[in-house]
Amino acid sequence: MTTSGNVCHPVDWQDAPTLDTETLADDLARHFHYTLGRDKVGESQHYLYQALALTIRDRLVSRMRQTREDNSKKRSVAYLSLEFLIGRSLNNAILNLEMEQEVKQALANYCAELERVGEAEHDAGLGNGGLGRLAACFLDSCAAMALPVTGYGIRYEYGMFNQRIDNGYQIEQPDHWLREGHPWELPAPDKTVRVKFFGHVAVHKDEQGRLHREWVDTHDVYAVPYDVPVPGCGNDVVNTLRLWKSEATDEFDLSEFNAGGYAEAVAKKNLAEQISMVLYPNDASENGKELRLRQQYFLCSASLQDRINRWIELNGEDFTEFADYHVFQLNDTHPSIAVAELMRLLIDEHKLDWQQAWDITTKTMAYTNHTLLPEALEKWSVALFQRLLPRLMEIIYEINARFLTEVAKKWPGCSDKQRALSLIEEGPYPQVRMAYLAIVGSFSVNGVAALHSKLLVERLFKDFYELWPHKFNNKTNGVTPRRWLAHCNPQLAQLLTENIGQTWVKDFSQISKIKDYVNDSKFTAQWAKVKRDNKLKLCELVQKHCGVEFDADMMFDVQVKRIHEYKRQLLNILHVIHLYRRICDGDTQGMVPRCVLIGGKAAPGYDMAKQIIKLICNVAKTVNDDPRAQPWLRVAFLPNYNVTAMETICPAADLSEQISTAGKEASGTGNMKFMMNGALTIGTLDGANVEMLEALGGEDFFVFGAQVEEVDAIRANYNAQEIINNDKNLSAVIALLESGHFNLCEPGIFNSILYVLKSDSDPWLTCYDFASYVQAQEQVSAAYQNKARWTQMSVLNTAASGTFSSDRTIAQYSQEIWQLQHTSNSEGE
Ligand SMILES: *Cc1c(COP(=O)(O)O)cnc(C)c1O
Repeated sequence: MTTSGNVCHPVDWQDAPTLDTETLADDLARHFHYTLGRDKVGESQHYLYQALALTIRDRLVSRMRQTREDNSKKRSVAYLSLEFLIGRSLNNAILNLEMEQEVKQALANYCAELERVGEAEHDAGLGNGGLGRLAACFLDSCAAMALPVTGYGIRYEYGMFNQRIDNGYQIEQPDHWLREGHPWELPAPDKTVRVKFFGHVAVHKDEQGRLHREWVDTHDVYAVPYDVPVPGCGNDVVNTLRLWKSEATDEFDLSEFNAGGYAEAVAKKNLAEQISMVLYPNDASENGKELRLRQQYFLCSASLQDRINRWIELNGEDFTEFADYHVFQLNDTHPSIAVAELMRLLIDEHKLDWQQAWDITTKTMAYTNHTLLPEALEKWSVALFQRLLPRLMEIIYEINARFLTEVAKKWPGCSDKQRALSLIEEGPYPQVRMAYLAIVGSFSVNGVAALHSKLLVERLFKDFYELWPHKFNNKTNGVTPRRWLAHCNPQLAQLLTENIGQTWVKDFSQISKIKDYVNDSKFTAQWAKVKRDNKLKLCELVQKHCGVEFDADMMFDVQVKRIHEYKRQLLNILHVIHLYRRICDGDTQGMVPRCVLIGGKAAPGYDMAKQIIKLICNVAKTVNDDPRAQPWLRVAFLPNYNVTAMETICPAADLSEQISTAGKEASGTGNMKFMMNGALTIGTLDGANVEMLEALGGEDFFVFGAQVEEVDAIRANYNAQEIINNDKNLSAVIALLESGHFNLCEPGIFNSILYVLKSDSDPWLTCYDFASYVQAQEQVSAAYQNKARWTQMSVLNTAASGTFSSDRTIAQYSQEIWQLQHTSNSEGE
């Protein structure tokens, strides 16, 4: 407090709490005893965790305010994403503030260990899988590189469901992650904005006789922001992730229901709160539900208003330079309605004309595509749009009319082209093509791996590429080495730092230096020991959650990711059955003892994916119960795969399974986490695997399977039965499955899986790739026999993973799309 004489000075908020142990311990005690009102450290670590989180948060909040101040006049990015798969925050914050020692000492007063205390934190699962985790890695990298980037998302009351396995079947349980409070968030109710829904468009003439369109009789909801600090590593930068919660406006239903009961009217307010209630658990598939469209519009409208309000505070209603200071990066098509919403805000609310608004929109919007799967390409029915967002539908029609004029100029007289490229798909139920809206409205369209970006311009968006080649670019994904190495693999981190110094944490290209140690037997012995220790930790996890005993001396063969047919967990389990059959036949020649771990969630409505989980569980049970298999093979399905689980899994894997059908996985990021942590990969030439293989110089990577150029031809005359007949391994596996060996008391439950496998229209070509997969797995086994050589290959994998840091990805976004290089991290800009 700074009061002198009678003059009262406001508390100087720049007096940020310091990072030393003593102040830390004082604050920890204060939060424990006063904020939380506790007196004893009880059985549960929960309150200690809360107190520590609040203590750390104090240190973040002051830096967050400072960062906002520093950035207020800079060109900045709003990263719009329906998903942020954050995981836990405590240890990440401590790591990035570089105060681990101080925290440990402060906790010693309570006889508590940081590791145990950290386990009391809920895993913030506001995302499905790769796309959401990418957004979280990007925020970490932006903060580490001091780039003015704000994340915008939804504060879902319920995140990704918790998965339980009951008799091999997935059971979904709601994830009420906010129940015990979320100490990392700060509500900012003063920044609340209104979002409109329903109503209709009224047209009126002004004095000059110009027509104006007004969206009226709307049902509004409030969007209330909750700010989550995003600490940069060792640089005092703290960026913001702003998550919106929906709340009812006071007039929401009262006017509607004034004839009815007061209490019923108030209860109806729940409708407004539904918008931010739950994350849709679909990965790589659209589902077309009205509530989902409401979420998308809610996020976009609130976030754009937030940026515009901030602009007006500083510049008034002059938008001439708005585009010089803003970029809106759209994480997939989910927020692509932002294109139309920015037009609406600028025209209807801020009185710009169409051309001014369109110039601004197309200079500020940038779109990232995440998938080539047709089932994931979002379309919304025109009828739904019309009803829910009538003014936006009008704007989309106008954008389309102007766009189709351009198409007509490029391809004169070609009405097929117009039909093919139209933002509206014609038919009995016309649909809005959201990806097309995103492309037309953006100055940049990027894919997420070299192969994916190439396929986008050659196939999915070919015509758009012909129109606007300059818009298209590639940004290969990455993952943050802070969470995915420094934090999750502390022993390896220490070994690295001892040998190459600690610059790798912030400059991950330095990791290549460990290549020099590949023939240093002391170093490789230490490397092998770290891997083994990590495997022991995973053994505990598997024992606890699967009741299966893994053995750290066996090879850990791991596939964790969303369960999806294109990711081909089925191919993996067919190989497991193949190994099991060989063991039963006494044919263990050249075999290496393996523990196979599979984990991942299936979308609740995705029946085939759920059956695949059941098959994995049944095969696991049969194998684990068979004493003949004990020395050779153990199989576990890990329930509830999430970020926290991956932090134990990726440091412990020997072999990483990245086996999608070529052309289906846009990039993958799980592959990169494993590589960083010294796992070898068995994989197809798909997504970023191609670039991983390239970084390794074509060695120490087990490639198999059809390549993307071949798959169309293979599909054209695919005969699964013939492939099965000609492959005695595969026919034995199929025969064992058909015999009901894995479902003795549950007849017929795997029939539909068998049907797809044997179908000539199997889009995933599982049977086709089986033989080359088995062959590659034999090479894996042979390689693993030579432990010393395997460890060297492990070192080389980590050494080659430098380019898969999300710092590299973000540097490219920053320079090539966002053009932030002149304003970031430099004084006086
Ligand atoms: C990295 C990650 C993913 C993405 O994995 P892929 O193998 O690239 O599909 C999904 N979920 C979680 C929890 C992750 O950490």
